[in-house]
Amino acid sequence: MSIAVVGSIGLDTIQTPAGRVNDVLGGSAAYFSLAARHFMPVSLVAVVGKDFPRDGRALLDQPDVDLAGLEVQDGKTFRWEGVYSDDMNTRETIRTELNVFEHFKPDLPERIRSLKNVFLANIDPVLQRDVLAQLDQPRLVLADTMNYWIKTKKDELLETLKKVQIVIINEEEARELTGEALTHKAARAILSLGPETVVIKQGEHGAFLQGPEVFFTCPAYPIDNVIDPTGAGDSFAGGFVGALARMARVNDHNLRRAVVYGCVLASFTVEGFGVSGLARADRDSILARAEAISDMTKFNLSDTARILR
Ligand code: AMP
Repeated sequence: MSIAVVGSIGLDTIQTPAGRVNDVLGGSAAYFSLAARHFMPVSLVAVVGKDFPRDGRALLDQPDVDLAGLEVQDGKTFRWEGVYSDDMNTRETIRTELNVFEHFKPDLPERIRSLKNVFLANIDPVLQRDVLAQLDQPRLVLADTMNYWIKTKKDELLETLKKVQIVIINEEEARELTGEALTHKAARAILSLGPETVVIKQGEHGAFLQGPEVFFTCPAYPIDNVIDPTGAGDSFAGGFVGALARMARVNDHNLRRAVVYGCVLASFTVEGFGVSGLARADRDSILARAEAISDMTKFNLSDTARILR
């Protein structure tokens, strides 16, 4: 059992009130994989250029992350640059350079095609659909997206969303996608686009889940010293999808439990620049934060220890 993920792998330049880093490992699939691997092995589908540094690859090269689907092509690696506001609740994208992602057409290895769980992380919705079409019979199909794709490829994105069971999206992007200012109305509008369930990420306020018969809100795990929020959303997705894929059934209780693990994994990411905070998460610290959220919310997580690898 593994999770297939397609998404960006790139080099990020990030400025926050805590400082600035240049060309560090980033991308939606990087954060997702490093978070989800605590629950279930991950098979990554992405592309980098010949300039992708060895230390970037080393960070991804974990025993439970299969890099067979990570292609190296002639050309430059995806790059993104963002600057955060003083309270770190908003950010401005300074540049997005798709580079080798612009014409990426993966041909999935046989062992990835047979996987039952797939996460279409934030990347071109046409590529998301292309990967989905190559899977034999997935059991669980989840997706994320971002303002860039809502602006540039909305129709393609709407096509992708028709084929997805659960969407994980941040609050501002949910509003942008639907034109609804109120978050719960945006959630309902997203459900009318095809998915059965939507999870809306709310940064320092946590996340909420809306399905046909389930509504749940979960606070973020409180972190005093936030250094860099980049990738928190993708790490949330890694915790959420990893936990859910590990559970036998998708039902209301399990969806709620998965939201808690999403919040836990996101909390590690904000503690350092790039993936450095997430890389410090381990079994004990994940369990401790999950128990803490369970206490804070009086929500019974049940069998916390067995969910992790
Ligand atoms: P998050 O902070 O969770 O929204 O994700 C930030 C990550 O998304 C960064 O590591 C970026 O490299 C990546 N990213 C930014 N823009 C895009 C885009 N248009 N497509 C795919 N990935 C992107």
